[in-house]
Amino acid sequence: MTPLSDEAFAVMAMCSRARAPYGITVDKIGFGQFKFVWAFKIDSEKAHREGYDAKTVRGGVTIDSEYPGCPHCGAKNFYTCGSCGCVVCYHGEEAVTCPKCGFRGTITKVDAIDLKGGGY
Ligand SMILES: [Zn+2]
Ligand SMILES: [Zn+2]
Repeated sequence: MTPLSDEAFAVMAMCSRARAPYGITVDKIGFGQFKFVWAFKIDSEKAHREGYDAKTVRGGVTIDSEYPGCPHCGAKNFYTCGSCGCVVCYHGEEAVTCPKCGFRGTITKVDAIDLKGGGY
């Protein structure tokens, strides 16, 4: 696993296939720039207790070369739900339904996204 800076934090994500939550370790690599470093299984109660949904940051995200992908389905691609902001596994569909809140939408490419996280 790639070493983390002291600005690393974790965000909650949902697998669109398994409909199960997981956590992503995110590190800050510069002003408004983040990278996904690691992904791990977690239950939503624990994530909430540890404050993974406590703060929101906005920025561009890149994916580290050692990022293992979703622990449920292996997807390395993701989108963020336009309604609840959850990070969700992405498999190239044109239209997606958020496994967390049920919001249906189409994928649009964005340069900056909101990440809800904290606690790490
Ligand atoms: Zn997945
Ligand atoms: Zn949602």
